[in-house]
Amino acid sequence: MRKPFIAGNWKMNKDSAGSVELAAGLAKELKDVDSVDVAVCPPFVYLQAVSNAVSGSPVKVGAQNMYFEANGAFTGEISTDMLKDVGCTYVICGHSERRHVIGETDELVNKKVKAAIESGLLPILAVGELLEEREADKTNDVVKTQVTKGLEGVSADDILKVTIAYEPVWAIGTGKTATPDQAQDVHAMIRGLIAELYSQDVADKIRIQYGGSAKPANTAELMAQPDVDGLLVGGASLKVEDFSKMIKTV
Ligand code: 13P
Repeated sequence: MRKPFIAGNWKMNKDSAGSVELAAGLAKELKDVDSVDVAVCPPFVYLQAVSNAVSGSPVKVGAQNMYFEANGAFTGEISTDMLKDVGCTYVICGHSERRHVIGETDELVNKKVKAAIESGLLPILAVGELLEEREADKTNDVVKTQVTKGLEGVSADDILKVTIAYEPVWAIGTGKTATPDQAQDVHAMIRGLIAELYSQDVADKIRIQYGGSAKPANTAELMAQPDVDGLLVGGASLKVEDFSKMIKTV
């Protein structure tokens, strides 16, 4: 019932030629895919070129970040209208690298989620615990807080525009994937929380991606979990062969 959604987060990788090559390669490789929603999230400066390269294919484009104000004196920031102008459908809000490297708070992430929805972009709200939080048995508390605060003020009418991405920080870029059971446990907890915050119907429909060392070899077992509806892929999304293999596995 929930259509799988696989997105590639290129992070701060590729140059202009490499971005276009990857995007064009995916557009070609995935031209007939319609059972999975697919997106790529290149760095800001390559968004337009990537949008052009995937145009007419099922591959959609997302940004890795945004600012919540519409325009004005916010040096270095990028607005939702600018993102739409260069062809974005999605935007990642609250990626753990933004939270933990750049220092974004739940409050800021929430403003971004709301501004994204307001503008017609579809936010991917990323959440996840640090290793020390998991070891201290705080995973559910941390993730609950991030989801609840991230979605504060998002109405029942809008909530299904949001995808939630559960990305345990200790699994990101480490090669240490969460086991399918670990992922499923947190995904089920998030779905239960959405049922409490909204309704069972909304909870049954919202998509929850897993992220953290997802790759072709573990895609099938992760996607086989009942509450894993997709993947947010870092490293493995940088190669046409790997990323398209993951999508075709689903
Ligand atoms: P990796 O797939 O490289 O672990 O990155 C996951 C991620 O952070 C995607 O947003």
